[in-house]
Amino acid sequence: MEPIVSITYSLGMMAIATMVYGGVQRRPWPKYQRHLVIGAAFGLTASAVMLEPLHVVPGVFADLRNLFIAFAAAFLGPLGAAVSVVIVSLARLAIGGVGASYGVIAIVFAAVVGLIAGALGMKHRGSSIRHAILFGVATTLPTTLVFSIPDTPVERAAIVVASLLAANILGSVTFGLLIQRERLIARRERLLTDTADHDPLTGCLNRRGLERRLEQQVPSARRGTAFLLIDIDRFKGINDTYGHNTGDDVLVQVAATLNAAVRPGDLIARLGGEEFTAILQNVTEREARRIAERLRRTIEQKVYIDAPEPLTVTASIGGAHFNHTVPEWREALTLIDRRLYAAKNSGRNRTVMSEAA
Ligand code: GH3
Ligand code: MG
Ligand code: MG
Repeated sequence: MEPIVSITYSLGMMAIATMVYGGVQRRPWPKYQRHLVIGAAFGLTASAVMLEPLHVVPGVFADLRNLFIAFAAAFLGPLGAAVSVVIVSLARLAIGGVGASYGVIAIVFAAVVGLIAGALGMKHRGSSIRHAILFGVATTLPTTLVFSIPDTPVERAAIVVASLLAANILGSVTFGLLIQRERLIARRERLLTDTADHDPLTGCLNRRGLERRLEQQVPSARRGTAFLLIDIDRFKGINDTYGHNTGDDVLVQVAATLNAAVRPGDLIARLGGEEFTAILQNVTEREARRIAERLRRTIEQKVYIDAPEPLTVTASIGGAHFNHTVPEWREALTLIDRRLYAAKNSGRNRTVMSEAA
């Protein structure tokens, strides 16, 4: 019974590690943060695995900790590997015994094996049983160090290595399938969300993407926030005169111009048709007016196609600045839409940032 309990327990820990992996990989956190958390989870589950080792022969224990380390290294790279190595090494040293320092060397060795496997494309090929088996074999290599522990009879060391080889292969195939599945699902989900949030023509956020972004990370409003609604003037005429494809080209170029003209924390989105919005974070009213005018002028000065004659366009902008706050998106939209309408009515190619203007 005992080996079954130990192996089932290890498989359970793999399932937990995989769940953390899948959950964290779906978060919109920076990569280093995701790798830190997942690396820690792999380190902790690997340490837990040491509590229920395989009793190979009386007095000889073995466990699958190195497999967790190697998987962390293969799937996360150096940072995830380092975090898991530190946690498991501390746990191993806390347990103590003659094999402690050999155990730590084997843990580091397992991370190196994982990093090499990662560099060789384990992430992409790990779902194949053949690669998982190879990975199980490679992960057992560090354990051959038990042969060097003083006073360890060769047969004993051989039994440990042989039993771990079997357990590592089983573990590697199971863990490999679990984590590979999770990786593909998480990636597909990220791709779907990304596709749903962006406009395929210009690559800008679309309205849904903008609204989700505003929910997830409120812009910094230390000095204030500005919302601009930018609408190309008489765009229908460009489509009618030059054709829809040229109209599309103009939209792509206007989007690129807007994106290049704002700061990294600002948001540019295409709300629909030839209408864009810019959300400027942490700006004073004066700066907001200056930026709006700069955007309008940049759009006006650009030549969109050279031949047969230079094609230029203009845009009208309705804008609003909010002191030290970020308003409700819908409330801001109503306001800037009204001001855009005023800009159109007073002759186009201008910026309106207040009711009186
Ligand atoms: P105004 O100065 O009042 O804004 O006039 P306008 O012609 O720009 O405004 P209107 O809203 O009447 O026309 C917008 C045009 O934008 C109509 C539509 O054919 C065109 N349009 C909308 N989406 C796209 C697109 O994805 N590609 C192209 N090429 N044209 C588009
Ligand atoms: Mg227009
Ligand atoms: Mg329009």
